[in-house]
Amino acid sequence: MTARILDGNALSQIVRADLAEKAAALKATQNIVPCLAVILVGEDPASAVYVRNKVAACEKAGFRSIKESYPPNVEPIVVLGKIAALNADPSVHGILVQLPLPRQFDAAAVLEAISPEKDVDGFHAENVGALMQGNPRFVPCTPCGVMKMLASENVPLKGAEAVIVGRSNIVGKPMAMLLLAESCTVTICHSRTRDLAFHTRRADILVAAVGQPKMITGDMIKPGATVIDVGINRTPEGKLCGDVDFESAKEVAGLITPVPGGVGPMTITMLLANTLEAAERTLG
Ligand code: NDP
Repeated sequence: MTARILDGNALSQIVRADLAEKAAALKATQNIVPCLAVILVGEDPASAVYVRNKVAACEKAGFRSIKESYPPNVEPIVVLGKIAALNADPSVHGILVQLPLPRQFDAAAVLEAISPEKDVDGFHAENVGALMQGNPRFVPCTPCGVMKMLASENVPLKGAEAVIVGRSNIVGKPMAMLLLAESCTVTICHSRTRDLAFHTRRADILVAAVGQPKMITGDMIKPGATVIDVGINRTPEGKLCGDVDFESAKEVAGLITPVPGGVGPMTITMLLANTLEAAERTLG
């Protein structure tokens, strides 16, 4: 069996075109241009690329973006002051702080400083709580993008066995909440899970969000399963790869996301969606 590919680039193009249309309508009818402010601290090359891609996606969709960059040794109070100013600026609808932050920062305190109404990454405790309660305001972009991908292929969710490998606040936990809300039976695996393959082989929907190159191999996958690879890793040769060994997995899975070109583009697309939603909400 060779799996069908779930193409995140193609789906992103469709969704982003729709978002651009909606942003243009908001501007035409209400004179509101959705605006995302991105804060980058330090010189991590991967973070710089992510921020550049986010800013470029905003521009392409007709959104406004603000990029605030700080050196690695900046005092946290300076960044917190900027967040307060952006919170108070009515022309700014979304604010995100690119993670990870340098050592001198308390990342949780920084995320809590962002107004929950502008927290388009969905990391503020208030928004995390709202998701837990089944009444989400902003859903973290990566799991939100995964749900869009599953919906685009009409993957049956009710009663499906969903196994998530990884329990981070950014991906694994919110992913579990979203799949649970769709009545999947959810299992979350992590580094202390005994017999990982026992769990992954039961999965109708398998989400890998670990950060270990190619650790999920074809023999760990149920035939016909939907396999979502969130991981972004580099091989020793410098090539991008996921947490799933694509070559062996595609022979077993029914549907599979590639890396690159799978979940990654959908993450940025959902960031745009959340920013547009934040802008629309200012209308009441
Ligand atoms: P974290 O490092 O925060 O979490 C990794 C999780 O994987 C942890 O829960 C950890 O378990 C678990 N884990 C580690 N080793 C194993 C193992 N051998 N077996 C089972 N579980 C294991 O990572 P993130 O969630 O932030 O990111 C995961 C991956 O997704 C990374 O490659 C990241 O680059 C990528 N990513 C991609 C995005 C996209 O847009 N495509 C967006 C965000 C992330 P424990 O909790 O026990 O330590």
